[in-house]
Amino acid sequence: MRQGDMLLPTLRETPADAEIKSHQLLVRAGYIRKNASGIYSFLPIGNKVLRKVEAIVREEMENAGAMEMNMPALQPSELWKETGRWYTFGPELMRIHDRHEREFALGATHEEVITSIIRDEVKSYKQLPLSLYQIQTKFRDEKRPRFGLLRGREFLMKDAYTFHDSYESLDEHYEKMYTAYSNIFTRLGLNFRAVIADSGAMGGKDTHEFMVLSDIGEDTIAYSDTSSYAANIEMAPVTATYERSNETPLDKEKVATPNCKTMEDVSVFLGHELDQGIKSIMFKVDEKLVLVVARGDHEINDIKLKNLYDGAMVELAREEEVRKAMGAGFGSLGPINVPSSVEIVADHAVQALSNVTCGANEDGYHYKNVTPGKDFEVATYADLRFIQEGDPSPDGKGTIQFAKGIEVGHVFKLGEFYADKMNASYLDENGKSKTMLMGCYGIGVSRTLASIVEQYHDENGITWPKQVAPFHVHLLALNMKKEEQKELAERLYDKFKQAGIEVLFDDRKERAGVKFADSDLIGIPLRVTVGKQAGEGYVEFKLRATGEQTDVHEDDVVAHVT
Ligand code: ATP
Ligand code: MG
Ligand code: MG
Ligand code: MG
Repeated sequence: MRQGDMLLPTLRETPADAEIKSHQLLVRAGYIRKNASGIYSFLPIGNKVLRKVEAIVREEMENAGAMEMNMPALQPSELWKETGRWYTFGPELMRIHDRHEREFALGATHEEVITSIIRDEVKSYKQLPLSLYQIQTKFRDEKRPRFGLLRGREFLMKDAYTFHDSYESLDEHYEKMYTAYSNIFTRLGLNFRAVIADSGAMGGKDTHEFMVLSDIGEDTIAYSDTSSYAANIEMAPVTATYERSNETPLDKEKVATPNCKTMEDVSVFLGHELDQGIKSIMFKVDEKLVLVVARGDHEINDIKLKNLYDGAMVELAREEEVRKAMGAGFGSLGPINVPSSVEIVADHAVQALSNVTCGANEDGYHYKNVTPGKDFEVATYADLRFIQEGDPSPDGKGTIQFAKGIEVGHVFKLGEFYADKMNASYLDENGKSKTMLMGCYGIGVSRTLASIVEQYHDENGITWPKQVAPFHVHLLALNMKKEEQKELAERLYDKFKQAGIEVLFDDRKERAGVKFADSDLIGIPLRVTVGKQAGEGYVEFKLRATGEQTDVHEDDVVAHVT
């Protein structure tokens, strides 16, 4: 391609709102442009990189036996109501309605849609397992869209879904996907780690996140220095701990209905609960509603409701939906959204607790003197909340270190959650109706692209690894007014094209300094400069990443590149 013909606007200045390198460089080098907060266009070279990342993702998905399909971004609210996520997903789900006032969601994720298709089309165990994926735009009204492509409100995701008639089959496909993810991020040249992730009520072993190691990452990873143990320490609801373990019967004490009338009452009541070492509570308000409270890890004894909301999460929702949503996979953002205003939350809390008819654990009862972990199932992440650097690693094989990570992928065993809610069943060998099992697997394709830039740049610009670079060669003619330079550059441009080498030809009538600076910024792996030595048929090769230079004769140029 000829640079002079392209839409490739480079900027000398760093955009004011771009805090991190990938955001700054992708804008400055002409890869992306912002249209609105968290919403970006990919300009031609940005689109080229995106397609290359996609191609690698596609290849590995196909290797893992997944079939590509394409589902709508516009999704009827009825489907989301079936699973309850219409109510529990919270404000991140973008909702719109059509001219007939029918409600729709803009797809934040596609479990509902795929499950509705599969329940209609799959009737027999003979049709299982199935593994399907798509690469598609997702919409999430993020509270804080930021960091350019890293946290957008519209972004590109690869999402895959598998359907099974046994846990063995689910496990097998989960393994395949896990391997595919490792292959993808390795092929992309990323320094990453797979970590145990928060799986809500579904147990700690059934979900992993793939984290690109980066100081600007929003997640903290606790990893062992001498073994493969690694986990996300993210604050997670520990509602799972309220499942009574079968082995340890608990003493329980009946307590009075709290009957809270003021925030103070609520605060005292919650304080009582939280003193037990319990970090989150589900209060049943009536048959349908529960209030979920989780607190930050800093106020243990002297709990004030005001403080409670600092890092706390409260939401009113239907109990079943809350319970399930907590373990519902990479789409399970609710019910743990911090509502927009503390006042509203406080009102909810007072209202809710003035009607409380039963306690945290069971109708009318509270557990006393219990030890989470012993008396309750405690998911792995819950233990990690207070973990410190230098602590022994939970696998007993090392010492914990912390690192920051960017979540680029997430694999999750969903089990029956969606299939159960949506009646996705099949007939087994004996003609008996059974609920399908599911897994879901996401990769943030646009986020991954930005993560590559976070790991591949220097003070002058991007240093793309070859497999995702928009072009392999950046051909620069330093002075297009000099006939010998122009002619040699044009000849080389043709040769590269004939040899199938992706080349960007800077044929602009710009000063050499501008061309070099733009070239460094754009970050194509190999630069071929046609300059003063053009008369003798020599050009300069320079590797973008290392700065290594050599002079090469015109006749050897193509051989040198391939
Ligand atoms: P995060 O914790 O960063 O909000 P998530 O856990 O909500 O991510 P998932 O629901 O697991 O995200 O979605 C699958 C993948 O989609 C994530 O692993 C991530 O790579 C990507 N992703 C999620 N939200 C965004 C976003 N706002 N912008 C870009 N990519 C995103
Ligand atoms: Mg996730
Ligand atoms: Mg999210
Ligand atoms: Mg996450």
